Formats: sequence, structure tokens, C-alpha cells
Amino acid sequence: MNRQTEYQSARQKRVRRRRLRRRLILCAPPVLLALVIGFMIFRPRAPVLSAEELGLPGWVTVDLLPVNEWSRPGTPLDAVNGIVVHYVGNPGTTAAQNRSYFESLASTHAAKASSNFLIGLDGEVLLSVPPDEVAYCSNERNSDTLSIECCHPDADGAFTDATYDSLVRLVAFLCDSYGLSRQDVIRHYDVTGKQCPLYFVEHPDAWEAFLDDVEAYESPDS
Ligand SMILES: [Zn+2]
Repeated sequence: MNRQTEYQSARQKRVRRRRLRRRLILCAPPVLLALVIGFMIFRPRAPVLSAEELGLPGWVTVDLLPVNEWSRPGTPLDAVNGIVVHYVGNPGTTAAQNRSYFESLASTHAAKASSNFLIGLDGEVLLSVPPDEVAYCSNERNSDTLSIECCHPDADGAFTDATYDSLVRLVAFLCDSYGLSRQDVIRHYDVTGKQCPLYFVEHPDAWEAFLDDVEAYESPDS
């Protein structure tokens, strides 16, 4: 190879390298964008957890419904992508009474209804459908959310302080356990437009304040 050919070949290599670099620079933003979009669509979700795996705190009383097609179908959840908050819509009833109502559906066949958790007027928390099973509460979100039914003393649907405090504590615990955040906590209203939980539908500011309280909650155990 004479000097001139050597020179030409070195120059061609340089040009090729420069082209390659330019191509890489041009490619980087779309590739990054695709990665970000891909992550948003397929972002890793927390696995479905059994009650044992979830490690339920001592303040949750486990009182499971018998498996039956009207309130506890025994269907495994597909995922836990969110938490749906409800109100029972029956003023003055207790968590135990609502749990009994769900159980009675197995024989009355009056409706298909249940929830994973129930919170009573005194702040008691019941688990009536395991956290890895579908409950009949949130319509098309039954298979990828956990549901919480809250008792209330009056028709306006406002919760007692004890119910409210337990709801904050339970939702904060679940968010922490499943890696969920503020936008994953929704009202039944956000799924179907149903006036549930009534007080938080009629008072959106109170709902936002509730989400603030969940975010700010610090477990005394931590
Ligand atoms: Zn509801």
C-alpha cells in the first residue's frame, strides 16, 4: 500500500466512524423514548400476595367468607394494580353485619357482592376475601384491584374519625406493600361513575386531603 492509499483508507475510516457516531446520536432519543414508553406500559407490577406473604398487621382481623359463587368465588386475582375505596351505603351498620350480609348471599343469591377488606364504625378492620382472590365490589376492576368497604353512621356517607384513621392506615400499608402510589388509589366512582364512596364523590377536596394523609402517613411500626 503506498502512502496515498494509506492516507485515503485512513480518511475513509474516519468518515465511516463519524457517520456511525452521527447515526448513534440521531438514534439515541427515539431509543430512549421507546424505552421510557415500554417501561410505562410494561412497568413491573407487584406480584399478587397471599395473606401470609403480605404479612397482615395485627390490627387486621381475618374473618374470611366461605368460598361461594355469590361473594367469594375463589378466583385468583390477575394483579394488584390499585386499591378501590367504597362506602357500604347502609348507614349505621357495622363491619360484622356487612360481612354477614356478604356471607348470606351464598344462600339468598340476592346479589353478587363482597370486598376484600371492611372497615367498621370503630375503626375495626376485617379481611373477608383473601388479598389474592377476586371480590365482587369494583366491577371491571375486580380482577386487578383490592377493595375496601367502609361503614358510616349517616346517610351523607361521612366516615367516623376511627373509620377514617383506619382507612388511611390500611391504604398506606397496602401502597407500601405493593409499591403503589397516589394515582393507584381510586374511588368506586372512578371506575363506574357510581356515587361511591358518597362523601368523597360529593367532596373531591376531602378525597384529595385523604390521599395527602395516606402519602404523609408514617407507620408507628417503621
Ligand atoms: Zn362501591
